[in-house]
Amino acid sequence: MGRIAYVNGRFVPHGQAVVHIEDRGYQLADAVYEVWSLFDGKLADAEGHFARLERSLEELRIAMPMSRRALTLVLREAVRRNRVRDGLLYLQVSRGVAPRDHAFPGDEVRPAVVITVKAIDRAAAEAKAAKGVGVVTTPENRWGRCDIKTVGLLPNALAKQKAKEAGAAEAWFVDELGFVTEGASSNAWIVDTDGRLRTRDTNANILRGITRHTLLEVIAGEGLAVDERPFTPAEASAAKEVFITGAGALVLPVVAVDGRRVGDGTPGPLATKLRRLYIERVRAGAV
Ligand code: PMP
Repeated sequence: MGRIAYVNGRFVPHGQAVVHIEDRGYQLADAVYEVWSLFDGKLADAEGHFARLERSLEELRIAMPMSRRALTLVLREAVRRNRVRDGLLYLQVSRGVAPRDHAFPGDEVRPAVVITVKAIDRAAAEAKAAKGVGVVTTPENRWGRCDIKTVGLLPNALAKQKAKEAGAAEAWFVDELGFVTEGASSNAWIVDTDGRLRTRDTNANILRGITRHTLLEVIAGEGLAVDERPFTPAEASAAKEVFITGAGALVLPVVAVDGRRVGDGTPGPLATKLRRLYIERVRAGAV
């Protein structure tokens, strides 16, 4: 973790960065967050993450804590103070600090803002992508508003732990009809047996991934079609290729689903190419 965090208007040493026990994010998960990947110290897919932050806040009727312009300056300053080139920036906005009560506090309570920055080892991430990762499946048990990026991540944390204990990198939620919704922290994709790219449509109860959205543009630019239709774990293990997308994963090849090997057990050519194209694109567009 970086050395400097931002908490409610102040940059403080990470070890001393604390929030009040009555913060509604802490008490009630009444908070939203965003994660930007950082390339060369710049925010990747900046616009998309800002737009989703604003939407998440609006859906929960939490005020934007400052203008987008001011927030951009604060985020950049957080990156600068941590001297991070390649990494991840985390922003959390809670409804604020107020005596614990389920209903909202009055308008005088201002949203609380926390920012942290951490470096990632890009070479290690590339080595991981070159090897591919495993995913496991788990029954969908989240609430009905997974389109809002809230910090209420207990089902995601439990699913991720299940994956970790199985030696996998990600867990996929599977709905009552037997279709994959998304990963605990990523969107799910396959190249099906017909060679078509497939990922679940965003009318479903999933997060509208920013990486997913940008990758759709990259794919369109390559003249390829995407079938926005759900798939089952069985279709995924029988697929030509499988991969996941997210600000952390970027585009990450999956080589096993519930312990069953995908293809020959190595990252697929399309997933590998899309990872490269995605990184080139966001690196060029980072601000
Ligand atoms: N789904 C979930 C549940 C996530 O937590 C994430 C990561 N934020 C994603 C999908 C991928 O979204 P993005 O590409 O915007 O990081």
